[in-house]
Amino acid sequence: MTAMLLSSLSFPPSRGAGLQRLSEFVPLAGAPYAAGRNTDYGPDQPATVSRLSPYLRYRLITEEETVSAVLQHHSYEAAEKFIQEVLWRTYWKGWLAMRPEVWQRYEREYDVLKEKYRDNPAIRAAEQGTTGIEGFDDWAKELVQTGYLHNHARMWFASIWIFTLKLPWVLGAAFFLRHLLDADAASNTLSWRWVAGLQTPGKTYLATTENIARFTNGRFFPKGLALSAEAHVESPLAAPKTLSTLKPLESDAQSILLLHADDLHPELIPLKKENVRAVFFVNDRYLFWGDKAHEFIAASYDDLKNRVAYQYDLPLISLSTGNTNQLIEYAKSKAIKQIVTPYAPEGLAYNWLHSFETELSTAGLALVQYRRIWDEIFWPYATKGFFSFKEKVPSILRELV
Ligand SMILES: Cc1cc2nc3c(=O)[nH]c(=O)nc-3n(C[C@H](O)[C@H](O)[C@H](O)COP(=O)(O)OP(=O)(O)OC[C@H]3O[C@@H](n4cnc5c(N)ncnc54)[C@H](O)[C@@H]3O)c2cc1C
Repeated sequence: MTAMLLSSLSFPPSRGAGLQRLSEFVPLAGAPYAAGRNTDYGPDQPATVSRLSPYLRYRLITEEETVSAVLQHHSYEAAEKFIQEVLWRTYWKGWLAMRPEVWQRYEREYDVLKEKYRDNPAIRAAEQGTTGIEGFDDWAKELVQTGYLHNHARMWFASIWIFTLKLPWVLGAAFFLRHLLDADAASNTLSWRWVAGLQTPGKTYLATTENIARFTNGRFFPKGLALSAEAHVESPLAAPKTLSTLKPLESDAQSILLLHADDLHPELIPLKKENVRAVFFVNDRYLFWGDKAHEFIAASYDDLKNRVAYQYDLPLISLSTGNTNQLIEYAKSKAIKQIVTPYAPEGLAYNWLHSFETELSTAGLALVQYRRIWDEIFWPYATKGFFSFKEKVPSILRELV
C-alpha cells in the first residue's frame, strides 16, 4: 500500500499553509511518490502527489525551498522523480521565456477561435461535463469545482478533448487557464502542445481506456475513445532567443517594491531593508485568467501584508492598474527613482508590466525586474528537450541548495 498525504483537496491561501503541506509531504517524496504518483484516487481521497502546485505557481513557496526541503530528508537519487517534476515547471518556464513567439501564437489563435466557437454545443458539452464520456465529464466538473486536477487526469482530459472530441487544443488550454488555481502560461500551454504533438513534433499522447481504468483505481472505464492520435502541425518556430537582459538592480538605491502574483516571495529580493521605502501589490482581477485563481491570491492578502510588515516594517499598499499615479506620485514625493519588481514570465502580469514600464519611464522612473538566481541558472538550459535539461540538474543543485 502506497503511503499517502492526508490532506484534503483544499488550498488554504497562505505561505504558511504551503510550508505546512510541504513539511507533511517531504517524508513521502521518495519511494511512495515514485510508486504512486501516476494514480489519481479522486478529489475526495488522500493523494500520493503533493498538491503543492498553487503554492509553487505564485511562489508562495519557491521551487528552491521545495527541493531543498526534500534534499534535507532524502538523497537526490531517492527523491529523483519528485525533484524532476518540480524541475519540469522550471524547464517549461525557461523554454517559453526563450520562445515568447509560442505564447503569442497561442494568444492570437485563442482570439480567433473563441469567436468562431462562441456558443458551440460541443465545446459547451465538454466544458460542462455532459459529453457522456466517463471520466472526462467527471474531470470537467472536478476542475470547475475544485480548481485542481491530478497530472494524469490533465493528460487524459487534454487527449480526449483533442483526439476523441476533435476540438481545438487552444480552447481546451484556455478552459484550463480559466479554472485551474495553478493556471500558468508555460506549464499549461506547453503541456497541451505536448499532448497535441506540437511540442515534441510528431509525438502525441493518446489516452486509453485501460490506462485510465488502471490509474484511476478502477473508478472510470470510458468507452469510445480515439484509437489513434495524429500529430498536429504548425509553421516552424524561430530558434530560441537568449534570456532578455534586465536593467541592473541597484541594491543601495532608495526603492519601491512592486509585488504581483507571478512571484509572491518578497523575502528574497536583494534590497537592503532600509532602502525599501514602500511596498505596493497589484492584484486586479484582469491580471488572472479565472475567478478562482484571483480569489486564491486575494484571500492571501492578509498573509502577504503580515510578511511584508515583518520583513520591511512597512504597510502593504494595494495598487490598482487603473490608478498607478498613486505609486508614481509617491516615488516623486520621496525622490525615488527605482521601482523593483520580481520578474514576470509571459502572461498577463508580463503584459501589464511592459505597458507600466513605459508609463514609469515617461515619469523618469526605472522599472527594474529581478530574476531569481534559480531561474537565471536553470532557464538557459531549456533550449532542447527535458531529457538533456534534466542531466544538468544534479550538478546545479549541488551548487545551489
Ligand atoms: C494538459 C496539462 C495542463 C497543465 N497545466 C498546468 C498549469 O496550468 N499549471 C501548473 O502548475 N501545472 C500544469 N500542469 C502540470 C501538472 O499537471 C501540475 O503541475 C501538477 O498536476 C500539480 O499537482 P501537484 O502539485 O500535486 O504535483 P506533484 O506531482 O506533487 O509535483 C510537484 C510539483 O512539480 C511541478 N510539476 C509536476 N508535474 C509537472 C508537469 N508535468 N509540468 C510542470 N510542472 C509540474 C508542479 O509545480 C507541482 O506542484 C499541466 C499538465 C498537463 C498535462
